Amino acid sequence: MGPGLTASRWAIKKGTRAAVALASPWLSRLAGAARGPVVRVLVYHRVREARREPFSVAPADFDAQMEWLERERLAISADQVAAWIDGGPAPRPGSVLVTFDDGYRDFHAKALPILRRRRIPAVLFVSVAEVRDRRATDAGEESHVTWDELREVLDAGVDVGSHGWDHVSLARIPADEARRQVARARETLRERLGDAAGRDFAYPYGTGGDFDDATREAIAAAGHRCAFTAVHGAVAPGADPLELPRDKVEGGEGLGMFRRIVEGGLDAWAVVDRGLWRLQAERRVRTAGGPVA
Ligand SMILES: [Zn+2]
Repeated sequence: MGPGLTASRWAIKKGTRAAVALASPWLSRLAGAARGPVVRVLVYHRVREARREPFSVAPADFDAQMEWLERERLAISADQVAAWIDGGPAPRPGSVLVTFDDGYRDFHAKALPILRRRRIPAVLFVSVAEVRDRRATDAGEESHVTWDELREVLDAGVDVGSHGWDHVSLARIPADEARRQVARARETLRERLGDAAGRDFAYPYGTGGDFDDATREAIAAAGHRCAFTAVHGAVAPGADPLELPRDKVEGGEGLGMFRRIVEGGLDAWAVVDRGLWRLQAERRVRTAGGPVA
């Protein structure tokens, strides 16, 4: 997790997302967006106060977003999404599934109480190697959830999914190693938390360069039901369950922008995702460090 962006980069990023959201009806036609009923999957990373840090949404903003989803009755579970793309009953048009990646401790401390209070179903995807038996007393906010905390997450009705073993891009390691890591992550989740854990998967980094045919085979071989990317877009009937798009919710954006994202304002960002992942991958190699997405 890097430090916050400079003021100018932050302004450019926020301005671009807002502009895409405003131009979305027009851009969606250009991008050939799906017609008919769709649902969307939102991806968050952290809920905490952080200055100009796109991966962190402030607790008050997150609460306002969940309050709005509760009022509009638009939040659905991973079970509902999986059943629908498998031919089951359609959720209300415009429904969303809330997901979180990485499993930092602020999920348990800040996001979980809000999800509980607002009765929002959600999925937390954890990097399994980062989950600890107990937290060191001097652990800072960069530490991850513990197994006991994950049991509380499940007890609260939030799914725990796999974000792989140690947050490497699965398309950038040998296929047999990817298969071993994916299987190990799922087995460990089930051993520690029971069969309800690890049903679904979220690709680390999740750009177009982070999953491929071999990766998909590894996910299927481990028995995962759905796998989520970080490529923007809507989920329509007949969607590929191992390549489900998600729209990123970022810090520093008001409820108006959130509502536009839920309504598909960032679907057209998929065009950027398709072109930009090479650049992102290069930057990632240069700044290799902890999980960033
Ligand atoms: Zn991640």
